[in-house]
Amino acid sequence: MTDKKAQSSSGVSDVLASITASAQTRLDQLDTQDLRRHLKTTARMPEQTVLRDGRSMVSFSDNDYLGLGVDQRVIKAACEAAHLYGAGAGASRLVTGDHPLYAEFEARLAAFKGEEAALVFGSGYMANIGTIPVFAAKGDLILIDRLAHACLYAGAQLSGARMLRFQHNNPDDLARLLARYRSSHRHALIMTDGVFSMDGDQACLKPLKMLADEHDAWLLVDDAHGLGVLGDGRGTAHAQKLRPDLSVGTLSKALGSYGGYVAGDSSVIDLLKNRARSLIYTTALPPMVIGAALKALEIMESEPALCARPLELASQFCACLNLPEPASAIVPLVVGTEQAALEAQARLEDAGFLVVAIRPPTVPKGTARLRLSFSAAHRDEDVTRLADAVRQLGLV
Ligand SMILES: *Cc1c(COP(=O)(O)O)cnc(C)c1O
Repeated sequence: MTDKKAQSSSGVSDVLASITASAQTRLDQLDTQDLRRHLKTTARMPEQTVLRDGRSMVSFSDNDYLGLGVDQRVIKAACEAAHLYGAGAGASRLVTGDHPLYAEFEARLAAFKGEEAALVFGSGYMANIGTIPVFAAKGDLILIDRLAHACLYAGAQLSGARMLRFQHNNPDDLARLLARYRSSHRHALIMTDGVFSMDGDQACLKPLKMLADEHDAWLLVDDAHGLGVLGDGRGTAHAQKLRPDLSVGTLSKALGSYGGYVAGDSSVIDLLKNRARSLIYTTALPPMVIGAALKALEIMESEPALCARPLELASQFCACLNLPEPASAIVPLVVGTEQAALEAQARLEDAGFLVVAIRPPTVPKGTARLRLSFSAAHRDEDVTRLADAVRQLGLV
């Protein structure tokens, strides 16, 4: 008899279950709850068209708000950068990975955002998990909007600071927490999305900024879905006429490429270069990625009408269905159960539209939804046809 068998008969079989069996049990649980996810090979084409399972559909699920991810000018810039500087960066930015396109892109992005400096990270997720622990640690306080993106929570957890959630978009609740907890902590950091990724509403930044000033706290705004769409493309804070202390975002949504950034005062950015672990201990992004983002940024700067388009199309859609005026390019249709959301997705696919169902844990239980994102690359008739298809589902 092996040791293994001897132990399992003594009642510790859970400990000894193989990793395969353990994984399978958990997958089975996800299956019974309609929460199991599968990767689906999807080829992206121009005009927000995708090929999936041999079917061509118009996608209302990706975050390429300006269609720049498949824009020929951007693709050409990526190819040129690869020819000039190679396929990979070779090392961390602090070693030899800081290829010439970085400085140009960061200066240009900072100017566009009206900030002194900017710093590119490997992704928006990495920007947040690297930045938050630099400005909050044990003994400090983090106040986070309940519906903020998962990577803000991940950064808060890594920081070791005390984390308290305030009710979504509720400055009164934030004020209550600050009054009660601020004085017993060294620094305080308030964190929110600019545009909430699953609901499409904007954070009310003015009252957050006022509370931050009043209570000697800093404000971090993650504007992944605002850049390129709101405030002439400059983002949510610009549209609301204020400057957060830390302005975080991504190159992978409206800029159509990949990567993340933080923008702010020069000293803040310089400290990040010295302390942000997700910048220091990881390889720099390939030159072609920054080459693409740089071209996309040029286009964004020079075409404010393009940046206005996603919100115009979202408005048209909402008008067709008598939904409230949207605050961003994201329009959620909350369905309720996981099953109903998957069913709605399947019916829209039959009608030629890809609208991926969003389920817990990405959204709170009972609020599974279709999340529509509108892009400048959509045509007016795509939007009206989608509105017809949604009406036929009887969801609104
Ligand atoms: C998409 C998103 C991110 C992650 O950005 P990536 O560059 O894709 O890692 C971060 N924050 C918010 C609010 C997002 O919507």
